[in-house]
Amino acid sequence: MPALINGKTLATRLREELGQQVSRLRERHGITPGLAVILVGEDPASQVYVRNKATQACEAGMASFESRLANRVTQAELLELIKRLNRDPRVHGILVQLPLPSQVSQAQVIRAIAPDKDIDGFHPLNVGLMATGNPSLVPCTPLACLLLLKHQLGELSGRHAVVLGRSNIVGKPLASLLLREHCTVTVAHSRTDNLAALCRQADILVAAMGRPGLVRGDWIKPGATVIDVGINRVAEEGRTRLVGDVDFASASQVAGAITPVPGGVGPMTIACLLLNTLHAACRQHGVPVPDDILSRAWGDAATSPA
Ligand code: NDP
Repeated sequence: MPALINGKTLATRLREELGQQVSRLRERHGITPGLAVILVGEDPASQVYVRNKATQACEAGMASFESRLANRVTQAELLELIKRLNRDPRVHGILVQLPLPSQVSQAQVIRAIAPDKDIDGFHPLNVGLMATGNPSLVPCTPLACLLLLKHQLGELSGRHAVVLGRSNIVGKPLASLLLREHCTVTVAHSRTDNLAALCRQADILVAAMGRPGLVRGDWIKPGATVIDVGINRVAEEGRTRLVGDVDFASASQVAGAITPVPGGVGPMTIACLLLNTLHAACRQHGVPVPDDILSRAWGDAATSPA
């Protein structure tokens, strides 16, 4: 059996360490990192994500500010709220839960967030800084994947990573981060020919397509490390089940290590959101960012790239 990369356990340990760093920041500098989350509409999955983020921020000792707006909100109203949060000194990180209703431009909303409060790392300034290898706030899910890989494998240099998916929130930023770690990176998408043969060349295979169970065991190089980002709700025997983009049963016969769904990338993504909020708070107050958080949490050599 392959090693199971247990994102749930690692995320719990990271959040505990973050909680200790937050206490230290408050005692020594009088700073409480603040996370503002904006939810538009009543999508049940988004409501669960927002609740989890707010709860975990509070458990880590951070201040949490939640704004819920009706689905019919105008672009001007949403931008006005973001402006207010940009100015609010208690708020160090702003997250707008996606997707947004069609009358609102996602691109304009992302651009309205002050880059130093952009804890999702989606602002074009942060995207550019990351792509050019400069310090920046880094999108949470790609950061979660990278940290899980470094925890599992240590040094990533020279490994061939195949990333399935080229979205702005997962595939592309993850490819940038892996390049920075000196991986050889191939990004595949819906127009890629012969996906299976490409996947079989990967030392590291990351699936982020939103296609339930597409990656099967015979697509995987024996011993490869597989990170399954996909979160898909499938109906089965009258109830809904969460599955990834990887067919876990067949993939786990071949992979060297693999993340489960649920319990892999998902919990680490929220922990990375809190990590980014702590980074943002430290930077905004000119306080050095603690650089040993991961090694203290996990007792290994993984370092934060943010
Ligand atoms: P998008 O729909 O934005 O992007 C999907 C990508 O996958 C696209 O680049 C698309 O190609 C590619 N793709 C789709 N079908 C295929 C196929 N059959 N073969 C090859 N490539 C394909 O999705 P996201 O990036 O937002 O999310 C991907 C998955 O990750 C979803 O299941 C989502 O729920 C999950 N997710 C999980 C998170 C977590 O915390 N664990 C956070 C964010 C997302 P093309 O560009 O050509 O259309």
